[in-house]
Formats: sequence, structure tokens, C-alpha cells
Amino acid sequence: MDTQQVLHMNDGNGETSYANNSKFQKKVMVIAKPILEESIKRLYSVTPHPCCLKVADLGCSSGPNTLQVIYDIINIVDITTCNLNPKLPVFQFFLNDLFGNDFNTLFQSLSQFLKIIEEKKTQKFGPCFVYAAPGTFYSRLFPNNFLHLVHSSYTLHWLSQAPKELGNKENIHLTSTSPPEMHKAYREQFQKDFKLFLKLRSQELVPGGAMFLTLLGRDKTPVMRKAWELISTTLNDMVLENLTEAIKLESFNLPLYDSTIEEAKEVIEEEGSFTLLRLESVTLDWDAHINEDINDDNNELDLNVRAEFIAKYHRAVLEPLLKAQFGEELMDQLFLRFKNKVVQWLMEVQVLELSTLIISLIKNKPCMD
Ligand code: SAH
Repeated sequence: MDTQQVLHMNDGNGETSYANNSKFQKKVMVIAKPILEESIKRLYSVTPHPCCLKVADLGCSSGPNTLQVIYDIINIVDITTCNLNPKLPVFQFFLNDLFGNDFNTLFQSLSQFLKIIEEKKTQKFGPCFVYAAPGTFYSRLFPNNFLHLVHSSYTLHWLSQAPKELGNKENIHLTSTSPPEMHKAYREQFQKDFKLFLKLRSQELVPGGAMFLTLLGRDKTPVMRKAWELISTTLNDMVLENLTEAIKLESFNLPLYDSTIEEAKEVIEEEGSFTLLRLESVTLDWDAHINEDINDDNNELDLNVRAEFIAKYHRAVLEPLLKAQFGEELMDQLFLRFKNKVVQWLMEVQVLELSTLIISLIKNKPCMD
């Protein structure tokens, strides 16, 4: 399977879409916003004020989060520059994702959104131009010294490909019983991909340019991997019931890695193009954002409701990849069964947490001597 061809989040605005099931990622954006503010303030303190700020959102997907990124950045720049710069800042936003991303729905939603921005604009800032920049962020996307700010939220845990020849037969990812070579293969793929990403972005950013990243992380207890384990056991059950073929499960591995703070730091230091301003980890419940959708005064949500919620956002993210491997006809059953396994797991452990890394970097200026 060619990951770069198949990977994207679920399209459109329907029930299983990413647009309707990305509140977890939204919650991460809200938590990380003060660090984004700090990055932009720092950008304005170290670079000459650009009359046109060029911003790339890498792995933008489609839905409210993409628009929120643009909105937040415009507001932060507005607040940061109101006392500094007599000229109204002009914005160029480049929205990047893989070719399979639903750019159509995204750009349709832009027209309404840009009207709102337009109304704010007259007194406060100049025009805001938005462009699509399709392609993999593991390749060059922009000219040299072009961008002032790179933003990429909840993306860099996606690898360019799953490690090859793993011999991982019954699981779709690492588990606590996977042999050390398998852990090593995944870690090395992450190190290679992240290093390449940093090198490419360092070529595209102006010296002193800022980069703000969030990605799935891992603490001592890699609970997130429990989700992949539950999907694996669901698929194994389906193989035993002849609903799918063993060979399909044996040859599939998720192209995804949950790095620790130390692993990410090591790559940044080794690659050497950036100064690390911040590298933090935040921990959230799997369903930390559920109360935004469901009013429950007792705060005692039914396990079924919680599991349904968790299953839906996993489906919005994983379905295109799983569909390509196992076929569309399996998807309803797969995620129903996954939901039931999440109910059981919630009964056993009550709390399911996962960690997110927040990284703020500044591109080093070239040495003058
Ligand atoms: N930034 C959005 C979407 C995160 S979902 C948010 O915070 O809600 C992760 C996105 O990264 C998906 O849309 C996926 O297609 C994209 N992605 C993964 N690998 C990529 C790559 N190599 N190049 C570009 N986009 C990629």
C-alpha cells in the first residue's frame, strides 16, 4: 500500500466525516494556543516585520479546525502587531495536505469564512489570500526562504510509510509484546521522516522563521496503542469468522508512530537547523472533549455513549487506510465491534489517556563568521 496515495481523513461533512469528528484535535489546538502565541511574538521580535506574512498549515485536512487555525493566526498577529507596525499586515495562507484530502469541501467552506475575515479586515489588516498546496510534507512544497511561519497540528505522527518486512502478523501496530526489532524499526522510520521534514522546512523558512507542531506523543504508559490493539483483536475475530482474509491482516501495519519527548528532542538536535523554544507533553482523556457535544448534568456518561464517541473519531481518521486494505463492506462491522471493545476496556480501566507533544522551533540564522 502506498501510504501517501491512500492516507487522508474521512471526507465531507457527514456523520463519519473528519469535519464532524475532530473535536479531540480541536481541544489540543485550544490547549496549545498560548504556545502558538508565544511563537508568533517571538517571530515578530527576531525577523524584520514582513509586509506580507506567508504561513503554511501542513496536514490541514478539511473541516472547522483548518479555518480555526487561520482565524487564530490572524488574531494573534493582529494583537502582536497593533502597537508595532503602522502598516496593515497582509496574509498568505498555504493549506497543504496529501492529494486525497477533501480540498473541495474545504475551499467551499472558505467563501463564508473569508467574508467574516473581510468584515474585520478594513480597519485592522489587509487582504488575506488562501491557496491550496497539495503534496506530501516529506517533500519540498515551497521555494527557498519563502515562509515565515509553518503550522502543523496533529500530523507528524503519520509516517511516510510503515516500516517494511516487520513480520507483525496479528497486530496492526506495536504492542507490549512486540519484539525489540519491531520497536526499533518503527522508531527509525520516525527518526528518518522527522529529520527529513525538519531539513525540508528549514530550506523553505526564512531565517528566524517559526515552526509550531503538535503530534501524538507517548509517555511511559503507551495507552494510545491500546486503540490499535483493540482494532487488531477486532480484525483477528473477523479473520476467524471468515469475514476477511488473514493475509490482509498480516500484511498491514499502521504508518504511525507516537514519539516520546526525548526521541523528538534527539532528532531536532541532531538535524540542527532549528533552535528549540519549547517541547512539552500534555495528557488528555480519550474523550476529554465529549461534554462539548453531550449535555449531561450528572457528568456520569453512559459507557456506550463514551465508546461510540471514541469509535467515531477513530473511524474518521483510520477509515480510508483500513478501507483500502480490508474493503469498504467491512467498515460498519469493524467499528461497531471496536466500539464494543472500547466499552469493555472502559469498564476495566475507567480512564483512557493519551499524550500530545507540542513543539515550538525557530529556524537558525546562518552563521556570519
Ligand atoms: N491539522 C488538522 C488535521 C490533522 S489530521 C487538525 O489539527 O485537525 C492529520 C492530517 O495530516 C490528515 O489530513 C492527513 O492527510 C495529513 N497528513 C498525513 N501525512 C501527511 C503528509 N506526508 N503530507 C501532508 N499531509 C499529511
